[in-house]
Amino acid sequence: MQKNKTYQSSTDAKLDKQIARQAQKNGAEIRVKTPLKEIRENKAITTSGEIDFKILVDARGVSALAQKDRTGILQSAQYEIYADWIEKGKVEVFLDAEKYPGFFSWIIPSCGGTGKVGVAGRGINAMQTLERFLDQKGKYSIIRKVFAPIWVNGPIENFVSGNTVIVGDAAGQSKPTTAGGIYSCGIGGIYAGRAISKFLETKKQDDLESYQKAWIEKFGKEFERQSFARKMLERLDNKSIDAIFDALTPEMIADISNNDDFDFHTSAIIKMLGLKGSLKVAQTMFGAEIRKLPRLAQILSKL
Ligand SMILES: Cc1cc2nc3c(=O)[nH]c(=O)nc-3n(C[C@H](O)[C@H](O)[C@H](O)COP(=O)(O)OP(=O)(O)OC[C@H]3O[C@@H](n4cnc5c(N)ncnc54)[C@H](O)[C@@H]3O)c2cc1C
Repeated sequence: MQKNKTYQSSTDAKLDKQIARQAQKNGAEIRVKTPLKEIRENKAITTSGEIDFKILVDARGVSALAQKDRTGILQSAQYEIYADWIEKGKVEVFLDAEKYPGFFSWIIPSCGGTGKVGVAGRGINAMQTLERFLDQKGKYSIIRKVFAPIWVNGPIENFVSGNTVIVGDAAGQSKPTTAGGIYSCGIGGIYAGRAISKFLETKKQDDLESYQKAWIEKFGKEFERQSFARKMLERLDNKSIDAIFDALTPEMIADISNNDDFDFHTSAIIKMLGLKGSLKVAQTMFGAEIRKLPRLAQILSKL
C-alpha cells in the first residue's frame, strides 16, 4: 500500500482504515510507503526491499493500467467545496460533448451548502475545466482537491496470471459509464480472496481462476451493456444530446428515477438513447453492435 495516494476522499479514507483494521486483526502485516517497483519470479521488489510471495495481489488502481491501455483512461478532478448554490438532495450531472468529451461534470451534495463537484473527460485539462465550471456557478470555498485518472474500458482480459491476481481498478472492475468502482471492485476483492484461500488449500490453478469466472458471472453482462452505452454516448454531439433530453417525457423521467435496480442502470440510458427520434440513428450507427447484444436489441425493440 502506498500512503501518498492522489485520490482519497474522506469516505474512502474511513473505508480503507476499516478494511486495514480487519486485515490486521486477521494476521496481515501492513507496510505503508512501500510501493511495488517490479515483480521478479516470486519476489515483489519494493522501494523498501524484496518481499517473497506465494500469491501477489495487484491492487494498484488505475496506475497499473497505464502501460496496458491508455485509451480507457480519462482525467478527472473533483473538489469538495462549501457553496451556497449546492442544494441538499439534488445531484446534478451535466453532459457536454465539447467540454467533457466521453464523460460529464457533476455536483453531489453531502448536505446543503457542501458537496463534491467534479469533471472528467477524454484529453481534457481536468483542473482548468473544473475551475471554469465552478467559476460560472458562483462563489465557493475549496476544502479538498482530488486529481486522479479514471478507467472506463471495462474488465481486462485476464485477472489471474500465474500467481499474480489482479483486483479492483487495476483489473478494470469499475463501471464503464460512471467509473464508479467501490462496489464492483470491492466484490472483486472478496471473490479474489475466496479463490486464493481455496487455491492455497488445493493448489489447483482452476480454483484461483474461478475468481474471474465468478466476477464475470455477476458483472459481465451489465458491464458489456455499459460499454455499449458508453460507445453510443461518445458518438453523440451536443445537438443530439439536447434532442434526446428534449424528447424525455415526465413519465420516462419518473420511470428512470424510480427504478434503482442494478440492471436498470444501462436500460435507463438505452431507453433515453433509443427514444423514437434517435432510435433510427442509433440503429444505423450501432446496428452490428446491437445485433451482437440480443438483450439490448430486445430493450430497443420494446421502446
Ligand atoms: C474523483 C473520483 C471520484 C469517485 N467517486 C466514486 C463514487 O462516488 N462511487 C464509486 O463507487 N466510485 C467512485 N470512484 C471510483 C473508486 O474510487 C475506485 O473504483 C476505487 O477506489 C477502486 O479501488 P481500488 O482499491 O481498486 O483502487 P484505489 O482506490 O485507486 O487504490 C489503489 C491503491 O494502490 C496504491 N498504489 C498505486 N501504485 C502502487 C504501487 N506501485 N505499490 C503499492 N501501492 C500502490 C495507491 O496509492 C492506492 O492506495 C471515484 C474515483 C475518482 C477518481
